[in-house]
Amino acid sequence: MIPYSQQWINEDDRQALVDVLHSDYLTQGPKIAQFETALAKAVEVPCVRLTSSATSALHVACLALGVGPGDRVWTSAMSFVASANCAVYCGADIEFVDIDEATGNMSSNALSGQLETAAVEGRLPSVVIPVHFAGQSCDMQAIDKLANQYSFKVIEDASHALGGQYQNRPVGRCDYSDITVFSFHPVKMITTGEGGCLCVQDAALDKRIQKLISHGITKDPNEFVTSMREPWAYEQQMLGFNYRMTDMQAALGLSQLERLNRWVEKRNQMMARYRRLTVDLPIRWLNIADNVLCSFHLAVIKVAAEQRLALFEFLRQHQVGVQVHYIPIYKQPFYRDSHKALPNTEHFYQQIISLPLFPKMSVEQQDRVVALLQEFFQ
Ligand SMILES: *Cc1c(COP(=O)(O)O)cnc(C)c1O
Repeated sequence: MIPYSQQWINEDDRQALVDVLHSDYLTQGPKIAQFETALAKAVEVPCVRLTSSATSALHVACLALGVGPGDRVWTSAMSFVASANCAVYCGADIEFVDIDEATGNMSSNALSGQLETAAVEGRLPSVVIPVHFAGQSCDMQAIDKLANQYSFKVIEDASHALGGQYQNRPVGRCDYSDITVFSFHPVKMITTGEGGCLCVQDAALDKRIQKLISHGITKDPNEFVTSMREPWAYEQQMLGFNYRMTDMQAALGLSQLERLNRWVEKRNQMMARYRRLTVDLPIRWLNIADNVLCSFHLAVIKVAAEQRLALFEFLRQHQVGVQVHYIPIYKQPFYRDSHKALPNTEHFYQQIISLPLFPKMSVEQQDRVVALLQEFFQ
């Protein structure tokens, strides 16, 4: 089976892990700070905090921005369920914004219209979570403009977009958002097994995030609110979690990060090749905006809705591990009773298939996928 995505672990990665196993710390050792610093440099942001997953990072992001019962959080339904669950964890209400069918990203026009209505009805969101679908940044400048107009905070769910750029700057800088979240799950751009992180510019927000990731505890005496000053003192100042990454995972991530730029380049080259080899076929690719460097976590094609299931089954029968990203979140049993279908999201969903694309994929594997597409459409 050629999977739709796959990690690439090399000898350096394995050695980095073994080195940690020989060291004094399995968790909260020196690799955590090293990986945080390396990520901060890579995405040009002052603060990066590692977490056990992007899911826990999104939860912490919502809490750090004060999301709670009575709040509304808006996101895209063309995403993994974690983009919505984070708000529900906090007791907030989730609502979905329709997408732009050319990109799969949250439509800033749809967002603008929905905000106008919500303002009249007194139902404005406190946080909006745009998702950078397939690795293409949303139109963050437009979303930021609306954020200022309607006073909501912005969390970028950039789980797909590590190594991508917007306006020639790395995704993760938070130029147009409060927090950016990345995922290091094995299907994503780089991996730590499970893992994620939050990126922020604001130091006070960073302090809250640090506490939320580790039980609500601080060990920094400058932050203490009591007079405890014993050498063993620490304070729990809020209700936090154990959402920490281990040193083993951080060592793996640090080693993987060295290859990120090469991998983004490779994914872009392979996407260009896919497009070139399929120009005569009745399939369409996502539009990529001129001011975006897409990391291409996913190679999403659109085909006629009547052909989608047959093509999916044909490719699976021939050992190509295609997937569909995503079933709109509002279709899930947990959400469907309280949410309406969105027209563009529905229409998009009926046409999409994710083809295999990963840095380790060979030209022969790609040729095989293309040959099967040609055979199907003959
Ligand atoms: C993968 C993914 C997540 C969750 O990431 P984990 O690290 O597996 O928790 C969240 N949002 C999106 C868009 C994702 O693709």
